[in-house]
Amino acid sequence: MTDTSLDIAVIGAGPAGLLTALRLHQQGFRPTVYEVVPELKPLGVGVDIKTVGTAEIDDLGLLEEFRAISVDAEDSIFYNHFGQEIYAEKCGVHMGYLHEQRFVHRGTLQMLFYRVALERLGAAAIVLGAGVTAYSQDADGVTLDLRHTDGRTEQVRHDAVIACDGIKSVIRRQMFPEMAEPHFSGITMWRGTTLMEPYRGGHTILHIGDPNISTMIVYPIADDFEGTGRTLVNWVVETQGEETIEDWNQVGDITEVIPLFDTVKLPFLDVQQMMRDAREVYLFPLIRHEPLDGWVDGRVVLLGDAAHAMFPRGGNGITQAMLDARVVVQKLLEHPTDPHAGFVAYDEARREGVNRIVMNMRGEGYEVIRRMVAERTDGKPFTDIEDVLPLAEADEIFSKYHALVGSPRPGFEAGEATGYRTTDAQVYAVPADR
Ligand SMILES: Cc1cc2nc3c(=O)[nH]c(=O)nc-3n(C[C@H](O)[C@H](O)[C@H](O)COP(=O)(O)OP(=O)(O)OC[C@H]3O[C@@H](n4cnc5c(N)ncnc54)[C@H](O)[C@@H]3O)c2cc1C
Repeated sequence: MTDTSLDIAVIGAGPAGLLTALRLHQQGFRPTVYEVVPELKPLGVGVDIKTVGTAEIDDLGLLEEFRAISVDAEDSIFYNHFGQEIYAEKCGVHMGYLHEQRFVHRGTLQMLFYRVALERLGAAAIVLGAGVTAYSQDADGVTLDLRHTDGRTEQVRHDAVIACDGIKSVIRRQMFPEMAEPHFSGITMWRGTTLMEPYRGGHTILHIGDPNISTMIVYPIADDFEGTGRTLVNWVVETQGEETIEDWNQVGDITEVIPLFDTVKLPFLDVQQMMRDAREVYLFPLIRHEPLDGWVDGRVVLLGDAAHAMFPRGGNGITQAMLDARVVVQKLLEHPTDPHAGFVAYDEARREGVNRIVMNMRGEGYEVIRRMVAERTDGKPFTDIEDVLPLAEADEIFSKYHALVGSPRPGFEAGEATGYRTTDAQVYAVPADR
């Protein structure tokens, strides 16, 4: 029988850490999670779980519970700064993928993973209020230095360590001190939620704007939110901005940004009103963390945002972390007595591809079509989108992107057109009032 009983420390009880612990447990390892905060709370706003992420959740036996807290993504539509449609594509099963793409509140998803981890691993395996401050290792294992919330310090010993301690990872800093300096990109992100009536049937993600002015992404993350009968809608605005601290919980004031969307007129959604009605708004500077040359130091490895902090665009942070979790556990199984070899195999399987995604996200990914349209029209309304951005050209951009992130579009290789224009009345019309 294969010996899969390695005793593995997972640092961080974010989505990546909890999912990794669940996978390790599923495959017979003995994980212990150390989390710095003394109480887990459902923090954050929306995240977009791609089809490959839903497949991971399904594989853990959590699909029905996930469906109950999330919204099925049916379609994804792009608009210029006048609300004219430029491109549309279907999502998830509606595009022909085997799994759904779903929108969910990051904190609600984390709490689902936490509850299930408590049930499956037991409460003793998840140590809250225990921040890891450093590691040291020898040929047989790893020692972690812990600082508890009450100030107590202690050392714990494990066979191996998977560090899922997020964008400010202390483990990454110890491994690569020379790579620790983050750089502000010049872009500020405003992340908010609004409780409102659903728009367009309640399953559409909207991508709006001109990157030279400001852009916005909008999607529903919960139907009948907390029994209110209304939908919780997540929105993210990007503008040029001043550098601020890199903190997911930094509260922001959106009022100065709202007028930037004066010209955006959609028949089914008043975006300015949506921002005015926000329940919460967070400010987040887009920070460049350089891709790393390696994720492994002996029996210690990085995973999730600790390994590949990226601009939080396109749902890649969380989905790629889920894929990391699958692969690291698979590679440990293939090297049952040598965690270092397992970690090296995981690094080889994942790092290069994920680093390409990190760099692609800096360059806007498929959102680049909003810039292309703005530049080709000199920031003005267009008459016929096909003259500005032919469907085939946009399809090519999207298909390359989907392949890059590990979800090649069904049908594209066979030459099928995969994008489309919706039948909304304003598709080709120049709005009369501007
Ligand atoms: C509070 C918060 C809110 C977020 N909101 C959003 C959002 O709205 N939209 C979005 O796209 N992404 C958000 N993210 C990021 C998103 O969760 C990640 O991009 C993705 O899920 C990968 O998760 P992760 O587990 O690698 O990192 P994280 O989600 O950042 O989790 C890291 C965990 O490690 C813990 N930790 C950190 N240092 C230590 C240490 N030294 N010892 C022990 N534990 C430690 C942290 O407290 C945290 O629980 C948020 C992250 C956080 C922490």
